[in-house]
Amino acid sequence: MAGTGVFSEILDGDAYKYYSDGEWRKSSSGKTVSIVNPTTRKTQYKVQACTQEEVNKVMELAKSAQKTWAKTPLWKRAELLHEAAAILKEHKAPIAECLIKEIAKPAKDSVTEVVRSGDLISYTAEEGVRILGEGKFLVSDSFPGNERTKYCLTSKIPLGVVLAIPPFNYPVNLAVSKIGPALIAGNSLVLKPPTQGAVSCLHMVHCFHLAGFPKGLISCVTGKGSEIGDFLTMHPGVNCISFTGGDTGISISKKAGMIPLQMELGGKDACIVLEDADLDLVAANIIKGGFSYSGQRCTAIKVVLVMESVADALVEKVKARVAKLRVGPPEDDCDITPVVTESSANFIEGLVMDAKEKGATFCQQYKREGNLIWPLLLDNVRPDMRIAWEEPFGPILPVIRINSVEEGIHHCNASNFGLQGCVFTKDINKAVLISDAMETGTVQINSAPARGPDHFPFQGLKDSGIGSQGITNSIDMMTKVKTTVINLPSPSYSMGSSGSSIRSRI
Ligand code: NAP
Repeated sequence: MAGTGVFSEILDGDAYKYYSDGEWRKSSSGKTVSIVNPTTRKTQYKVQACTQEEVNKVMELAKSAQKTWAKTPLWKRAELLHEAAAILKEHKAPIAECLIKEIAKPAKDSVTEVVRSGDLISYTAEEGVRILGEGKFLVSDSFPGNERTKYCLTSKIPLGVVLAIPPFNYPVNLAVSKIGPALIAGNSLVLKPPTQGAVSCLHMVHCFHLAGFPKGLISCVTGKGSEIGDFLTMHPGVNCISFTGGDTGISISKKAGMIPLQMELGGKDACIVLEDADLDLVAANIIKGGFSYSGQRCTAIKVVLVMESVADALVEKVKARVAKLRVGPPEDDCDITPVVTESSANFIEGLVMDAKEKGATFCQQYKREGNLIWPLLLDNVRPDMRIAWEEPFGPILPVIRINSVEEGIHHCNASNFGLQGCVFTKDINKAVLISDAMETGTVQINSAPARGPDHFPFQGLKDSGIGSQGITNSIDMMTKVKTTVINLPSPSYSMGSSGSSIRSRI
């Protein structure tokens, strides 16, 4: 059970503590933040509302712990990460329980998130040992005008203190995708978890604590992003921000100053369907891609752009599959569960009402109970409807009928987002050309967009982000190149009375 057994020290009465200097603590603010269960809509957990002084303290500790950590051998850093991964996987049940209660993630998916996170940490440790254990060697005479008088050695060094801010939808996975690369690369880490998802993150952090990482190297401060977010992101002690979330990331990147940023933001992933596509495969992928975790995924299919000639057939196939989706509580492992907050549900409803007023075809009746919204396919959506462009982050999927591939590509590229997209066709040549034309970080051919496997590069263009993730890319991003140049005598430099050069004499 969450908050019991090995996790009992992270709970004090009815409120979870925050983590600083290797210890679980209560905030001096005396205030807590409530986490509302999306299913029951009642307070499920409470976490500390940390103060600015507490943030200052973790930054100071992180700075000092990083100096020693950077000198800790790579294999030792990897060993601790492997240990944390094993502890995390061992305790998948209580952490999954938190995910179910905080973010209404279906039961099986909650367990999968924890296990996948453990695997990600282990892979990061192994990848880090390989890529950080290598450097480059360059010689000067490959550049015009130079003699072979300079040998250049490069290695990767840590940035310092990494601030990690994950979103609610994969709080554990998208926290460890930052924590793992930061630590293996020799950085220290300050985590600010999302409010919905904070308790899952606190349990995950405790697994790192149990693994025996040095005090101060990892900290976790809780509180509302709207209250402590700016103080954290503009803190002079932060040397890198790795953020995943929505538009908040755009404002953070304007305020953060001259530090490396990794921003994974929203998306409006398009699914382009050509006439020759296997429509059963497309329908199966639309269900998986559009409705998994109730559409609350950055890489969910968020608009279907289908050729008019096959649109009726595709819509019928998708409708038949939507009818089979199980709607209900996450504990019952339903396909469609309540969306994360009431305000999210209200936002989604606003998009639905706008589409209704403007004449979209409802393939199912719109139904909502509290935060639970039944899956809805909206056909004949037109570009003047908000749902054609905005990210619902809910189980609502618009279908736009197109008359040419160019029309589909045009719609995709007119979006402010550019995360992923997908194209379904049996013509691989056409698929590659369409992929080239789509302004997105990734294009999937004949499958729904997806983040992962976790070692694949993952990035968004335009308002979808800055930089690239994926295990290797994140390690790279959280390091700097350090160069040492050894300057040698010129080949014509002579020594001794014979006048022969050192080089020719060796
Ligand atoms: P969000 O509202 O932007 O919040 C993300 C994180 O930022 C949370 O931890 C939040 O804390 C924190 N935050 C809020 N205000 C802040 C501030 N002023 N300064 C610093 N941090 C602040 O996003 P969300 O609703 O959690 O997640 C959904 C969004 O994430 C969607 O747009 C989705 O597409 C995107 N997403 C993108 C990816 C990707 O890889 N590209 C992956 C997953 C999700 P609080 O919870 O305390 O407010």
